[in-house]
Amino acid sequence: MDLGIKGRNALVCAASKGLGFGSALALAKEGVNVTITARGAETLEQAAQKIRAAAPGVTVKTVAGDITTDAGRAEALAAAGEIDILVNNAGGPPPGDFRNWSREEWIKAVDANMITPILLAKAVVDGMAARKFGRIVNITSSSVKAPIPILGLSNGARAGLTGFVSGLARQVAKDGVTINNLLPGRFLTDRLRGTIGAQSKKAGDELEAEIAKQATTVPAGRFGTAEEFGEVCAFLCSVPAAYMTAQNVLLDGGNYPGTF
Ligand code: NAP
Repeated sequence: MDLGIKGRNALVCAASKGLGFGSALALAKEGVNVTITARGAETLEQAAQKIRAAAPGVTVKTVAGDITTDAGRAEALAAAGEIDILVNNAGGPPPGDFRNWSREEWIKAVDANMITPILLAKAVVDGMAARKFGRIVNITSSSVKAPIPILGLSNGARAGLTGFVSGLARQVAKDGVTINNLLPGRFLTDRLRGTIGAQSKKAGDELEAEIAKQATTVPAGRFGTAEEFGEVCAFLCSVPAAYMTAQNVLLDGGNYPGTF
């Protein structure tokens, strides 16, 4: 299928690794010029080299900075130029017990996983509407649909984003702009490794065995890969997906147990 987005410009946030990287890679393979961000400059540059090697001919720009800050967002937006496709992503909040979280920790989670994607959408959505094409994909979490007890910060902050997006998507749908949320279940990224390692208190071979064991609990019999996540993200950004907006798309290998 031709996704129809060759030559478009994308800003993919938090994309030196994991799901953001997978999304940037898939978009670049479709001929989209990508600007990728992350805080660590060295890993970010390595990610850009991988994308350039896999998708020769597209422009890959890097912006090292914290996307949850005003400065980080301003630099990313300035570097990306006229943005047709925005993939919102940031690190997830830490796990824990809500009894131990201070106001500051809640503000940090809401800043990263709700306010940052809203401010980035605000910066680009009117230009997209004026040009009659735009795609915004928010990487959220399966926790929006089925809360994960130890990830209360994520459950709460992402639910706020989801409610806001549901309203905004309807306001710009007639202008060729779609806004959807992509909800990862369990994907084998550094974050998932870290979470499983912290919970199981295992490392090395023991951690690998624990990861393999937990993967069998997913109906698909495995964890997802960042690459396959990215390909679904690229589809949501495509021309054929033009009539699909305001949706929460769960990508979890069948893990969510409900019929709908
Ligand atoms: P990951 O493998 O740890 O990658 C996170 C990426 O985001 C890295 O490139 C990291 O680079 C960048 N990043 C983190 N904080 C940033 C910030 N403040 N500003 C700019 N870049 C930042 O994580 P992942 O598994 O891809 O997860 C991506 C998102 O999906 C997270 O919000 C996570 O909670 C959510 N999620 C993941 C899963 C899963 O199974 N993997 C499931 C549900 C939800 P730097 O550290 O260098 O900044």
